Parts: sequence; C-alpha cells; structure tokens
Amino acid sequence: MRRRLVIGNWKMHGSLSGNAALLAQLREGEGVVGHCDIAVCAPFPYLAQVQGVLQSSAVSWGAQDISAHTLGAYTGEVAGTMLDDFACRWVLVGHSERRSMHAEGDQLVADKASAALAVGITPVVCVGETLQERESGRTTDVITRQLAPVMALGAAAVAKVVVAYEPVWAIGTGRTATPQQAQDVHAHIRASLAVLATPDVRVLYGGSVKASNAASLFAMPDIDGALVGGASLAAEEFLRIAAA
Ligand code: PEP
Repeated sequence: MRRRLVIGNWKMHGSLSGNAALLAQLREGEGVVGHCDIAVCAPFPYLAQVQGVLQSSAVSWGAQDISAHTLGAYTGEVAGTMLDDFACRWVLVGHSERRSMHAEGDQLVADKASAALAVGITPVVCVGETLQERESGRTTDVITRQLAPVMALGAAAVAKVVVAYEPVWAIGTGRTATPQQAQDVHAHIRASLAVLATPDVRVLYGGSVKASNAASLFAMPDIDGALVGGASLAAEEFLRIAAA
C-alpha cells in the first residue's frame, strides 16, 4: 500500500522571519492531514531553522539538491552527510530547474540519488518533458531516458526512491497537466519500475498543483501525491492540498 505524500519545494524563497511564520502555521495545521506524509524542502541555509521548528512534528523536511560527491574539495557543493546532520529525510534530485539552468544530466541525477541513499536520505527523482518534447510525441521516451541511470542503480535502490513526474511546461506556469495526461505518464513510470519489481515506489505529480486541482489529480490510480512549488509557500493552501 502506497501512503500518500505531499512535498513542498520552497525553491529559492524564504527569510528567517517569513519561514518562522510559515512553519508555525504548518505546525498548527499538521493535525488535519493524518492520512498522508507531508514534507517541505527548504534552501540549505534554513535547514537548521526548519529542523528546529518541525522536529517532533508530523511534517518532515529535506533539501533541494545534494552533491554527488562525498566530503572534499567541491566548493559550493553540499554533501549528503551535511544534510544528514540536519536530519533531512528527503532531497530533490534532477528538478527541471537544475537540469536546465545547471546542465544536470541524467547520469548526474542518478549519482545524486545514489549519494542520498548512501546516507539514508530518500531522493525524490524529478523527471519530465518539455513542451516541445510533448508536442513531438516524445514524452515517454524522455521519461524512460531520464529514469534509465536511476534504474541501473538496481532494484534495492529503486525501491527506496520517490519519483516525481513534473512536466516542464506545467512548472510555475499555472498550466497543469490534466489528470488523464498525468495518469498516462504515471502509468508509464509505474510500468517501468515494475520491471524491477518495485510496485510500492511512490510517484508524485508536480506542476502548478493547487488546492483547486489537487483532488482530481489524486483521484488517478497511479498518482500518489504531489511535489508542490509556488503553492507550498502559503501554509493554508499547502495544507488544503495535503487534505485533498
Ligand atoms: C516545483 O517547483 O517542483 C513545482 C512543481 O512548482 P509549481 O508547483 O510552482 O509549478
């Protein structure tokens, strides 16, 4: 049985004072969503703050990136052991903004997933096609290509990951995939994972998820929750998504 999961991606937003208010509201509202796991992925400098407020709450936390390397001369990188020091449970890898703005390729994304697993942190592997790739009928090929190096980590590793399907054209655009469009790709991802006999891997949808469209997306059989960007910055909206 796959337990529902809703993760907020704060992206490069926040401040100590703004986070304090948001986190306090999340703590107050956590009780309304006992049926699913909730988490927030914060910018690195705020992990200590997030940990301080959310520890012993029902809301877990994580980071938005991880180095593929262990400790060493990698200026600007953040190692898995560092994330573990702040009790991160999750880390996003391969978000489309990192793939497109930082030229992260499929193999690097898998290496980052592997680095996370090595320290007991669950990687949330983000995959998704651009509008051009969708319109030229290449969506499933792109997803298969993006997942391939992750699948090569083997069944034991893949059983521990979360996959997030995030069509690039739906991220931060207000344009959501229809529930059926999302379901079709989720079914493809689930079938790909089934080759490794990993039926319980959670597959989240991401891309302009809001309280108003969450329920119809979550009604789809292969959608196990959401990775939420913009709407995770408002506690009430984020909790309403989780409640859905
Ligand atoms: C994201 O950042 O992963 C995302 C899905 O953003 P948004 O919900 O704002 O589209």
